[in-house]
Amino acid sequence: MGSLPLDASLRPLDPEAFSGESRAVVNFLAEYYCDVEKYPSPGFFAYYPFNASAAGFAGEMLSVGLNVVPFVWAASPAAAELETIVVDWMGKLIGLPQRLLFSGGGGGVLQGSTCEAVVCTLAAARDRALAKLGHENIMKLVVYASDQTHVTIQKGARLVGIPPSNFRVIQTSASSGYGLTADAIRAAVDRHVANGLVPLYLCATVGTTGLGAVDPVRELGEEAQRHGMWLHVDAAYAGSAAICPEFEGYLDGAELADSHEAMNPHKWFLTNMDCCCLWVASPATFTAALSTDPEYLKNVGTNSTGKPAAIDYKDWQISLTRRFRAIKLWVVLRRYGAIGLRGYIHRHVAAAKRFERMVAEDERFEVVVPRKFLLVCFRLRERIAGDDTVDDLNRELLAAVNSSGRAFITHFVVDGKFVIRLAVAGAMTEMQHVMDAWALLQGKAEEVLRRHQL
Ligand SMILES: *Cc1c(COP(=O)(O)O)cnc(C)c1O
Repeated sequence: MGSLPLDASLRPLDPEAFSGESRAVVNFLAEYYCDVEKYPSPGFFAYYPFNASAAGFAGEMLSVGLNVVPFVWAASPAAAELETIVVDWMGKLIGLPQRLLFSGGGGGVLQGSTCEAVVCTLAAARDRALAKLGHENIMKLVVYASDQTHVTIQKGARLVGIPPSNFRVIQTSASSGYGLTADAIRAAVDRHVANGLVPLYLCATVGTTGLGAVDPVRELGEEAQRHGMWLHVDAAYAGSAAICPEFEGYLDGAELADSHEAMNPHKWFLTNMDCCCLWVASPATFTAALSTDPEYLKNVGTNSTGKPAAIDYKDWQISLTRRFRAIKLWVVLRRYGAIGLRGYIHRHVAAAKRFERMVAEDERFEVVVPRKFLLVCFRLRERIAGDDTVDDLNRELLAAVNSSGRAFITHFVVDGKFVIRLAVAGAMTEMQHVMDAWALLQGKAEEVLRRHQL
């Protein structure tokens, strides 16, 4: 790949040398990624796979190539207005209530990641509460999550100054499918209120990262309302499924949410990195925590249309300058349409369902939690109750599968149990790849069990 002379002689390469070195870089990348354990292979079942598509690629090129920066409306009115349009489209597609859409008094923004979006919502919730309580009472604010909630909520709470001891993790259990129950929240909140603390923020997750569990949004929303808590719905992954009518029910109760990070299109929606949709019920409350108004960003003779579309997106996020993500999402939505995207989700869900059935039919294995979307959590079962070698057997099985180079799968630990999680969401993953992965798992299981004379 050549070497970079780090002195004053750093000159542009001549065309011939540039061509040769560029080829070396492309070859390096191709060799590196020929191994299936890396991204975008159809045998990638690890974590939650990130999707790319030709449309997402084209949209990303347009975004990067045009390089318009809609930080204030006047800097790029078309880009800012397109963003308000596509986030409303997205919200309607996943069945969000009107009050979270621009057309219903709420509104949305495209950010880079859930982590950034969550920090913004926590800051807005904090400021809304402290405006009443006084800033000195920040030590009383409590943020609630479950033991299955993504760690981003905890990180966000730390970043906005919530005392670490006031980040309260509520236990879930197999009896609720690892969903957070309203009873558990009520018990914790009542205890904390009696001790003089102030409930601030509750996160309900639709499709947790470890197990794909679902918290009951409506019931948690009612608890949040009882105490004036901010309800945030995190459906970063599974939110994409809500474009299919059969999954919309999981977002039931979304009208009780103050903010809804309903999805990361960069995960399961054919949109290349990065793109995260966030909707809020009250743009005024949200932007109060994030807006700035220096003289150098004021405009004379523009941005005074009074139209809701004249939106300064700098007040909807942490940074000032920003990417033109709306064009990318627009290209994806227009290229595949709702029908194409539903078909894409159905393809993965059907393959995950088939995989789950095959696991359930093999008596050596057990499904650990019922599958809801694309994630199947399973393991080799205990042969006798209390068998403490079973975790090691599962670890060995997973290592054998991954070192074959034919599939890449990751694990989770719940209630002390080592669980294998297979996520069917690779952009190129078809039913056949899932069948192949199952045959591979069965073959390796046989080897592992034989080695241990089981
Ligand atoms: C992936 C994921 C996140 C984190 O998303 P980033 O965009 O990487 O910050 C948060 N919550 C859930 C449920 C997720 O699946």
